[in-house]
Amino acid sequence: MYIFEKEHPLNKTYKEHMEKLVPTSGEASTVEGEFLREINRILYDLDNNGGCNILPESYLANIISNFNSRIVSLEFPKQCQNFINNLLKLSQLLEEGKDIEDVWETEEYEVDIPCPECSGDDNCSFCDGTGYVIEYEEEDIGNKYEEFLEEKLAPVLRNLIEDEIGKKNILEAVFLEVLRMEREKENLKNNSYFNIDEFSLL
Ligand SMILES: [Zn+2]
Repeated sequence: MYIFEKEHPLNKTYKEHMEKLVPTSGEASTVEGEFLREINRILYDLDNNGGCNILPESYLANIISNFNSRIVSLEFPKQCQNFINNLLKLSQLLEEGKDIEDVWETEEYEVDIPCPECSGDDNCSFCDGTGYVIEYEEEDIGNKYEEFLEEKLAPVLRNLIEDEIGKKNILEAVFLEVLRMEREKENLKNNSYFNIDEFSLL
């Protein structure tokens, strides 16, 4: 069960935090809010756009790399590990993809077409009496970027989309992390030796 479902034991407090920390549009003003916003956008895109926006040159590529830089330093439960590994793999692939040219390579090939001047006349200078002339046509034989999308990126994306357990757990884990960060801030605030403004938690 997802944390955003009513029956989930953490649903009420999750909803309260979403309302408090994540604006309906634009960036959140806190690290915790951004954390929640990012994972929600990733999950939304996976579930509603088939991850289509998580492709190079899209804004979600940045979100993923932001998000990844946060999650690598955290310990998440093993139920999320596949999801996180695939997310990391995806962001590496998006980096790789930037250097791959999106150009179709073509190959020229010959085709015989009936002579436009004759039908096999020995004196025809067009076809030398063969009745056929040679024309050259071009065929697309491949595109490195298309291959990259199909063979490398798509399988990782598919794994992410199909990882129901991972998706459910990563959202929950991020939320628990947000609660932990909140508690840590409270502790710092209550400790007179620390000036909260001098600390950044992540
Ligand atoms: Zn001819």
